[in-house]
Amino acid sequence: MIRTKGLSTRFMVSGIVVLSVLITVVISLITSYRSEKDSLIKMSFQMNSMYTGKIAATVNELFIAEKASMKAHAEYIARHWTQPEMDELTAYIQHSNAMFNTIIIIDKNGIMQSLSPEMSPPLKGKKITTPGTLQALKERMPLVSEPYISAANALIVLVSNPVYDANGEYLGFIGGTIRLHESNLLNAVLGSQQNAVAGNGSYSYVVSATGALLYHPDKDRIGEHILSNPLFSDLAAGRSGEKRITNSRGVDMLASYSYIKELGWGIVSQTPTSIVLKDAKRPMVHIATYVISIMLVILLAIYWVIGRMSQPLAKLAQYASLLSTTKSLHADVPRIHSWNSEANALHRAFVMAVSRIRMQLDHLSLEAQTDALTGLNNRRTMDKYIGTWLAREIPFTIMLLDLDHFKQVNDNYGHEKGDEVLKFLAANMRALFEGNHICCRYGGEEFVVLLPETSEDEAVRRANKLRRFMAETNSPVGRPVTLSIGLARYPDSAQDAEALFRSADEALYRAKHLGRNRIESASSAVVVS
Ligand code: GH3
Ligand code: MG
Ligand code: MG
Repeated sequence: MIRTKGLSTRFMVSGIVVLSVLITVVISLITSYRSEKDSLIKMSFQMNSMYTGKIAATVNELFIAEKASMKAHAEYIARHWTQPEMDELTAYIQHSNAMFNTIIIIDKNGIMQSLSPEMSPPLKGKKITTPGTLQALKERMPLVSEPYISAANALIVLVSNPVYDANGEYLGFIGGTIRLHESNLLNAVLGSQQNAVAGNGSYSYVVSATGALLYHPDKDRIGEHILSNPLFSDLAAGRSGEKRITNSRGVDMLASYSYIKELGWGIVSQTPTSIVLKDAKRPMVHIATYVISIMLVILLAIYWVIGRMSQPLAKLAQYASLLSTTKSLHADVPRIHSWNSEANALHRAFVMAVSRIRMQLDHLSLEAQTDALTGLNNRRTMDKYIGTWLAREIPFTIMLLDLDHFKQVNDNYGHEKGDEVLKFLAANMRALFEGNHICCRYGGEEFVVLLPETSEDEAVRRANKLRRFMAETNSPVGRPVTLSIGLARYPDSAQDAEALFRSADEALYRAKHLGRNRIESASSAVVVS
């Protein structure tokens, strides 16, 4: 089979199908991944927002209530600014309130009047100069402090209310401290998410109005300032919202944040983006598996159909390529049964063309091999036979025939009649010599018969039969035209074509010379007349 350039139909159509399906799959995968990603991100934001919103509202309400109760306690102690009432009140609040770790009463000079529980070393009677105390004494109004280190060396937030007596004279303040590192109601509320969504990497933290961490699952970070945190600027401006950010450890996070109005704090809840998007690829895998299996089925079907369609064309192409070898012209155009009308039309055209070419070739080869007047083999064909036999060393006799006085025949009866005589002789030669005997017109009125694998006697016998027939039978000119014959034999008379002809010619010459209408042989003295 001749290799051809270009791609097979089967390959091309399959390729186009695969390519278009792949493009469709990739586009649908990307689209599905994007929409899945967007919806997962949105869902995560929503969940975190719901949580921070709820906690912000709870904490807000909690502090409104705590501030109100602190105000009520302040009003009460203003009327009982003496011992043991102060100690009784601080002890009472401390036991009944889950929000504060310590309850304190400090007078206008900063001296600790009462506290519950007492610290070790004791603080009662001591002058307190912590930032929260100084701020409360200075501002003399209800306050929630920024986190600071207390006199008992704990990081705290102070919720305080000033105490004024009946005359409006400032006495000091009553306050509750929230120890940020210890458990209390605030921590319990803020830490609730950790239990709720444990396992998905989410966590939340609370930041004060000045950017200090008030609550963080990593306790070591409580008190740390996170001013550079991208969410802080929004919270500082009193805004709630959601953002995709990179946290302090460089992790991509989806964060929602809510502002706690009453305190100026912000609560942030965030989930690692990687965990949120963990399942975003799942629909893609489903789609890919589904589409690829369908594609494989379609591909097989297409491969089969195209194979059926292109098979006749391939057969014809193979046949056409075989036409270049001479042998193949005898092979029939392959039969095809196709659904494809073009293939059938092509097949019909092929059959027609091939039979026509065959006819023309047959005609041409006949013309090339035979003599136009007599239909005998021409000289070229004769040479071919002789060449082949010499090469294969096949013994044969060459018989050279020449009509006697043919010039006279032409002169007396005309050239056309002469031609008739030539045809007459040819017909008789054909009738007499059959099988592997090769009759040729050598030129003019000279003929040759090649007799392979025939004994000399047999050759002479046959030559004589022809001679006699010509001598005894009227030719087209109304009388017999005799002929003379010279014989030579390969390999006895000569070893090559030229010498062989020379020998035959010499024999013929002898026959002419000795009176014509006779046979002479180069190899022996056989003479027939
Ligand atoms: P010879 O007995 O010696 O052979 O005498 P001849 O007259 O036959 O002499 P030669 O063989 O030399 O003559 C050949 C003649 O054959 C010459 C030519 O007129 C004639 N001839 C050759 N070819 C053709 C042909 O195709 N048709 C016809 N009609 N005559 C031919
Ligand atoms: Mg002659
Ligand atoms: Mg002659």
